[in-house]
Amino acid sequence: MTGLIVCTALGLEARAVARGLRPPPGRPGIRVVRIGMGPDRAARAAALLPPAAALAVTGFGGALHDGLRPGDVLVATEVRSGDRVWPCPSAPLLAGELLRAGLPARLGPLVTSPGIVTGRARLALAREGACAVDMESAPLAEAAGGRPFAAVRVIVDAPGAPLLNPATLCGAVPARRTLTRIGPVLARWAAAVGPRRVLLASPRSFCAGVERAIEIVELALDRFGPPVYVRKQIVHNIHVVRDLERRGAVFVDELAEVPEGAATVFSAHGVAPSVREEAARRGLRVVDATCPLVAKVHAEARRFAARGDLVVLIGHAGHEEVEGVLGEVPGAGVLVEDEAEIEGLRPGRGVAYLTQTTLAADEAGRVSAAIRRRFPDAEGPRGDDICYATTNRQRAVRAVADEADLVLVVGSANSSNALRLTEVAARSGRDGAPLARLVDGPGDVALDWLREARTVGVTAGASTPGSVVDDVVAALGGLGPLEVEERRVTEENVEFTLPKEVRP
Ligand code: SF4
Repeated sequence: MTGLIVCTALGLEARAVARGLRPPPGRPGIRVVRIGMGPDRAARAAALLPPAAALAVTGFGGALHDGLRPGDVLVATEVRSGDRVWPCPSAPLLAGELLRAGLPARLGPLVTSPGIVTGRARLALAREGACAVDMESAPLAEAAGGRPFAAVRVIVDAPGAPLLNPATLCGAVPARRTLTRIGPVLARWAAAVGPRRVLLASPRSFCAGVERAIEIVELALDRFGPPVYVRKQIVHNIHVVRDLERRGAVFVDELAEVPEGAATVFSAHGVAPSVREEAARRGLRVVDATCPLVAKVHAEARRFAARGDLVVLIGHAGHEEVEGVLGEVPGAGVLVEDEAEIEGLRPGRGVAYLTQTTLAADEAGRVSAAIRRRFPDAEGPRGDDICYATTNRQRAVRAVADEADLVLVVGSANSSNALRLTEVAARSGRDGAPLARLVDGPGDVALDWLREARTVGVTAGASTPGSVVDDVVAALGGLGPLEVEERRVTEENVEFTLPKEVRP
């Protein structure tokens, strides 16, 4: 059976796509078929197509609003025609791959119309949320019958640059080149098609400290009204930050950027006392979203320093939590990132050690053991500083990594616990380590990773919304039948109280 059939309306579109698929090295199993213009011809051609694992339609298309410009590439999230809608769940994977190939890919609904759409009809479709229009995709989406399907259109006209404008026609040559570059990306998409098993690590996503921090910003927006200033990212996740920005939060790096007296939230990672002092001097209305488990590490640092110990903090340089904790003990704290640094310590006093809350438990254990070997009287924290959420998510990712070919950790690149989950996954695996990759969403998942991956482990850092994990799993489901199993290693029922400033 053919792996992929790529349909185009026009011969010049077919030739442009086929050029990108030409050998060497050859693309066996891919056919480019010209189906003719319009939904009727497309429907007749679709009925005659040979069997194939995946079906794609590509060619030129028209933008329905000026947010899309000629030269952009629209990857359909769904195809609409009349009352019918055909979802294209793998669209974010394809759009991400096109972006990495250097093409200006965008995501959005595509409408199939019986004829060329202009004027008021174009406006009406745009008002319904559609991004672009073509005349062939709907019959092909119907013919796909649930098989992996993709519709990709190179925009050649837009409301502000209509098709009959000479400038738009000049754009046809670059648009053909773009089609040529789309060919190999569709080939990679088709190579990733196939049945798959997804193992969802559990627990994953939000911890109690992150939920509390986000709720604090939401309540502060309700109570004080926008804008509410937030020092640093409230939690290290771009989706959370963008969502709160839309609702009126303003994220700043330093308090100097906050107007006098404004409502200001400190992030979940905690702040040094000098930051609190500056906020008080400037008369800011502060709501502190520091996670109580981070605040506990601050308190331990103060206790150790007060009795004259050198406080050795195991952590990662530059992380806000580390800056906050060391800021508690100026002149009495030192950061160590690995075992090698222990030898260089010359404390000249008692030694105590603490750890950043989001470290990999195995690595932190090795460093703390090295501290105890070198300083046998060194005192550690009363309980483990690595928090319950970090520990549970690392246990859970190990459980799925044992069976997975690929582990996707959903989280932002500045999230310490998501990074550690990726490292833990890469060190796990019964029969050799799986490929472990950190992704901020489905668009970051490279199709080549999926080609050989029949079992995919999926987890998420404690700052990642569960909805982004759902998006990743939904996108994988667009590549073929998906069996989703959850691997739960423990239940979590931790809750923290809210600070009095925003308590209902
Ligand atoms: S990961 Fe742990 S320390 Fe960090 S916010 Fe969540 S519960 Fe608190």
